[in-house]
Amino acid sequence: MIRILIIEDEIRLAATLADLLEHAGYSASSVHNGPDGLTLAAGGGYDAVILDVMLPGMDGFQILRQLRADHTDTPVLMLTARSELPDRIRGLDAGADYYLTKPFENEELLACLRTILRRAGDTAGAPLRFSDITLCPETPALVCGGREIALSAKELELMRLLIVNQGQLLSKETLLLKVWGYDCPVNPNSVEAYMSFLRKKLTLLGSAVRIRAVRSLGYRLEETLEKEAAK
Ligand code: CA
Repeated sequence: MIRILIIEDEIRLAATLADLLEHAGYSASSVHNGPDGLTLAAGGGYDAVILDVMLPGMDGFQILRQLRADHTDTPVLMLTARSELPDRIRGLDAGADYYLTKPFENEELLACLRTILRRAGDTAGAPLRFSDITLCPETPALVCGGREIALSAKELELMRLLIVNQGQLLSKETLLLKVWGYDCPVNPNSVEAYMSFLRKKLTLLGSAVRIRAVRSLGYRLEETLEKEAAK
């Protein structure tokens, strides 16, 4: 049985997460404050930790930093309140394996969890793969074959969401919320603009990956197995 520790002070969210994880076949334990969370996580009896940032007593970054300083290498999935770049950089600096922006879909959380469990022991900011592309969050860059192209912070975040949710449609509203945050006024056309930047970069890399826009529903990544002319 894979054991997951949830450190989250919103009791209803912690209970919902525990139900979700148990339904998915994991064993889940919850704790609702920072110091207890650190004590349990430092015990090393868990295969992964889901760690909220804002916690009473001790915040998620302090817990993570302490765990890594003590050489506890349990994979950590950090929950951030919103898509805020400085938080994410702090999370990665402190040794988080992954971060997820609230609110998130159940499937997205389970996908992230599977990813961090799979690469348990790897370092923070490990690459994500889809088809022939590799997303390197630390650079940040997109790599295909021997080619590499730099990404902006927003492009990185959009591509990360597309890869983590591969095959699923992501609505423009979801992307705006997760990449730009709740309280940042932004033009909805920004998503389209950034998708077009990413499409150009995929073309420059010669990748078989396409970003498909499904009218009024959203975006998803697809792999073109055949050349356009062959269909
Ligand atoms: Ca909290």
